[in-house]
Amino acid sequence: MKKHNFNAGPSILPQEVIEKAAQAVLDFNGSGLSILSISHRTKDFDEVMDTADKLFRELLDIPENYKILFLGGGASTQFFEVAANFLGKKAGYVNTGVWSKKAIKEAKRYGEVEVLATSEDKNFTYIPKGFAIPADLDYLHITTNNTIYGTEYHEDIDSPVPLIADMSSDILSRPVDVKKYAMIYGGAQKNLAPAGVTFAIVRDDMLEKIVRDLPTMVNYRTHAENNSMFNTPPVFPIYVLAETLKWAKKIGGVQELYRRNVEKADLLYAE
Ligand SMILES: *Cc1c(COP(=O)(O)O)cnc(C)c1O
Repeated sequence: MKKHNFNAGPSILPQEVIEKAAQAVLDFNGSGLSILSISHRTKDFDEVMDTADKLFRELLDIPENYKILFLGGGASTQFFEVAANFLGKKAGYVNTGVWSKKAIKEAKRYGEVEVLATSEDKNFTYIPKGFAIPADLDYLHITTNNTIYGTEYHEDIDSPVPLIADMSSDILSRPVDVKKYAMIYGGAQKNLAPAGVTFAIVRDDMLEKIVRDLPTMVNYRTHAENNSMFNTPPVFPIYVLAETLKWAKKIGGVQELYRRNVEKADLLYAE
């Protein structure tokens, strides 16, 4: 492939991952079937799921007491699912741009939303800091990378209430202290895979705190208890995600991705 893609959206996957994906479309693991034509309930696909889980854990240093869910619907579905599962009375949100606003809008359907801080006054050109976080919130929601306006949290913040982060466009771009978060989610298509799979990294205790009776597919416990195989998962995007994680490990993990990203950013911002 010979073109760059600077779009703040689905982005370029490593060439070797694309080649692996192309091969798996033709013949998956020498099985005589395309990855597009297999059942998700096969030994070969179990291995793909295991690899995705294992490498995600290893690369981001995700502790044992977190589940990694692979879901459909995109990050936009998480905007309402987070609130449906966890917003009983009141949640705090930080408004740092387009995606935060959408998350806030959906959360309001389920309870009270307190916008603790916003950078809207200056057209979302900064990340608000030093705001108070009330202790009675069900959770605090942040968007770690403001994909459209271009501001980003460079550190993991401390929160006295469960911290939930949309990391759609900066997942694996820097080391993250996962222990500081109750949940991290995102659409995989910015950094990890083609569109179609959404990751949700959820701390076990949160799964005991689901606040209302929900449709089966919306309840995180359904997917946690069934290793994301309650229904048919997005098989092909998960396969590509696993291959991207293998590639990331091979080149040196998140530290190396971080180093490369800083180098790219320096080049661009210097101009
Ligand atoms: C792209 C993006 C989304 C939307 O993701 P979909 O998977 O298309 O729903 C949400 N949040 C952030 C930060 C994004 O960059």
